Order: sequence, then structure tokens, then C-alpha cells
Amino acid sequence: MSSRTGIILLVSGPSGSGKTTLCRRLADEQEAIYSTSCTTRPAREGEKHGHDYHFLSRDEFEQRIASGEFIEYAEVHGNLYGTLKSEVMDHIATGTDVVMDIDVQGAKLVRSCTETNICNALVEIFVMPPSKEELRARLTGRGTDSNSVIELRMKNAIDEMKHWKEYSYCLISSTREEDYNSFKALLIAERLKTSRLTNN
Ligand code: 5GP
Repeated sequence: MSSRTGIILLVSGPSGSGKTTLCRRLADEQEAIYSTSCTTRPAREGEKHGHDYHFLSRDEFEQRIASGEFIEYAEVHGNLYGTLKSEVMDHIATGTDVVMDIDVQGAKLVRSCTETNICNALVEIFVMPPSKEELRARLTGRGTDSNSVIELRMKNAIDEMKHWKEYSYCLISSTREEDYNSFKALLIAERLKTSRLTNN
């Protein structure tokens, strides 16, 4: 019999690509644990502390940086975002998969990390919106952000999309169902890698 170490499924893509929905569904179906990030951005309507994010003041965030609590952190859209070690490390050690939704700067930091447990666990995928027009429609349709925020997010999205080749996998978004099927298939295939299997 073999057991295995856990996977870190790192997901990036511009706001509006649908990546958060994919990550949340994987967690809702108990295929993986969702790594809840910390952020200094204010909570949007309906967002819950500890579920969507750990909402922190800049001071609290900086204290946590100083005490080495993050795997990575980055400034995105003028706010700090970061992944806590406590959201990831114990899970992968015990063979539970973790899905994390982080930006391209954070992905670069995780990729360049020298910690063997993280390198071996890492699977990276970029979720690409089908077109710029569809991306704008999705960002507008969400109805939670002002026009200036949407314009900033469009600009950031276009910059972010230039990084897709840095990822091992790229999913060009189509329907929610097709996207999810491809996404889950990737996780299932990665679970079969011999390098993750441990004899016991
Ligand atoms: P939003 O404010 O729309 O929830 O997220 C904005 C961006 O921050 C998204 O691209 C998201 O992937 C990214 N993000 C969320 N959590 C983290 C994190 O822990 N680290 C990094 N580097 N980016 C994050």
C-alpha cells in the first residue's frame, strides 16, 4: 500500500477569469482545502472574515511578515495579500491537497521557493479569460466595483495575462462546467504521480 503527500494547486488568472469559483468548488466538493489568504483590502459586501480572507490592518499584516508567518506575500491593486504557512504546510504533510488563488507575483515567489516540501507539492495553473471583451463583461457584471476599480482591474488583468507561459498549465476559460471538469481532472491526474507516493 502507498500513501502520498499533498498537492499545492496554485491558481492564478485575472479577476473575472473565474479562478476563485473553480477553487471554491473544489473545496466545497472536499477535493482540496482552500488556503484562505490574508489581505489588507476592505471586505466586499457579503465577504466573511476567515472564510473569504483573513482581513487584517496593514500593521497586523506587517507584524505577521516580520514573524515569518507567510509562504509568500505581494502588493496587488494597492493592497497586501499573502499566504500563511499555517494554511498549507500541515495539510500537504498529511496528504491533503490545498488549492490557493494567488496573483502572478505570489506565484513567482512560491515557484522560486527552496523548501523541498513546497517544490514537490506544487502544481501551477493559469486561468485565462476567453477574450478581453468577455473579461470586461464579467468584471462589470459582478456589480461590486466602481468604474474606476473596473478600469484598474482591466489594466492589471491585461498585464497579468502576459505571464501565462510561466505556469505549467493554462486553462482557457469556457463554460463553468467545462472549466471545472478540466480543473478537477488535472488534480486527479497529479495525484497519480509516482513522486508523490510514499511506501508505508
Ligand atoms: P481580490 O481582491 O479580487 O479578492 O483579489 C485580487 C488578487 O489578489 C487576485 O488576483 C488574487 O489571486 C490575489 N490574491 C489573493 N490572495 C492572495 C495571496 O495570498 N497572495 C497573493 N500573492 N495574491 C493573492
